[in-house]
Amino acid sequence: MLKGITNLGQWLTWNEKKQAMEIGEGGTLIFEADQIAEYSNSVYSGNEWIDAQGRFVSPGFVDSHTHPAFAATREMEFEQRGQGKTYQEIAAAGGGIRSSVTALRQIDEDKLTELIRLRFDQILASGTTTLEAKSGYGLTLESELKSLRAITKAAQGHSIDVHRTFLGAHEVPDEFRDGREHYIQILVDEMIPAVANAKLAEYCDVFCEEGVYTIAETRKIARAAQSYGLKIKLHADEFVSTGGAQLAVEIEALSADHLMAVSDAGIRALAESEVVATLLPGTTFFLGQSQWAPARKLMEAGVTVALASDFNPGSNMAFSMPFIMTLGVIYLHLTPLEVWQAVSINGAKALGLQSSVGALRPGFRADCVIWNCNNYRQVPYFYGVNQVHAVIKSGARVSNQEE
Ligand SMILES: [Zn+2]
Repeated sequence: MLKGITNLGQWLTWNEKKQAMEIGEGGTLIFEADQIAEYSNSVYSGNEWIDAQGRFVSPGFVDSHTHPAFAATREMEFEQRGQGKTYQEIAAAGGGIRSSVTALRQIDEDKLTELIRLRFDQILASGTTTLEAKSGYGLTLESELKSLRAITKAAQGHSIDVHRTFLGAHEVPDEFRDGREHYIQILVDEMIPAVANAKLAEYCDVFCEEGVYTIAETRKIARAAQSYGLKIKLHADEFVSTGGAQLAVEIEALSADHLMAVSDAGIRALAESEVVATLLPGTTFFLGQSQWAPARKLMEAGVTVALASDFNPGSNMAFSMPFIMTLGVIYLHLTPLEVWQAVSINGAKALGLQSSVGALRPGFRADCVIWNCNNYRQVPYFYGVNQVHAVIKSGARVSNQEE
């Protein structure tokens, strides 16, 4: 028996040969098990069909950069920033990532799992079907393992697809301020082997930035992770250009993320590589900054650009990909079609998943969103409202706002 989404309005597909997003109109996407089998011009009827009733249909979002494993929200800092305090001043007073580390070390694993599961529910309902999720608020062997186990358990039996990243190198913890080499040795000798042996992550990320991890330290941590089979993603050139983009190319990372301060040499290096530039404009927005990543310059150089949410309790308390798309159009000067590519197939490439998710085409997983919209431009245009009509995950309807 055939099944799928019928009575499509406008919909987006990916032309593999031209490497371009294309616009379809009408017809039916036919599913086989959890995959898209083919496209048909016909319209079908019957209970087995999901009727889009002429609505716009897109691939589910691939959000390739999030930090959902946190124990406490930080709305007091939000208020303080609004009153003129800087992120750096708040951090120096014991706020910032330090307060997240204290809370994470104290929380019980089951409680953390439950918090993360609720976040996954909301993220899926907003149209994200594939999610990267990082640890990084524990910064001890035990609390990093606790974070990754909590992410793993929250994802079990959940419809959203979760891909886990070990981010023990998110910061240098306070107790190692005077002996950072010692913490790096623990990362390399104890934490990475423990994470890899317990199969708790696919990727390893490092915050490569002035005042956090240097280029040489990042290289050392990344090489150790690669020797255990983990793939690399980097927080690179966010505030200062330290050469993080070039390092990402040198170590064949899947992505270099942030890049607000990337140099021209960094852009050239990325353009000659397969490394995806993952831009996170939600962070620039939420911190009230004005230095947006040079998206057009990257694209014109030939770099693959993805957009992700960077959902985290400090610098961006939002996982709404439509809102990230709005920022992409206004501040990164991408067209609506370019932002759609950046949040779907390019997000998948940033996770090494571009042959199975992020596009409505045969052989890809049947992960789609039906929108209360007529066309692709309306999704970033209607900002601040959830226009999701229904989310389809692996061929089945998982949530809907209305019937
Ligand atoms: Zn991040």
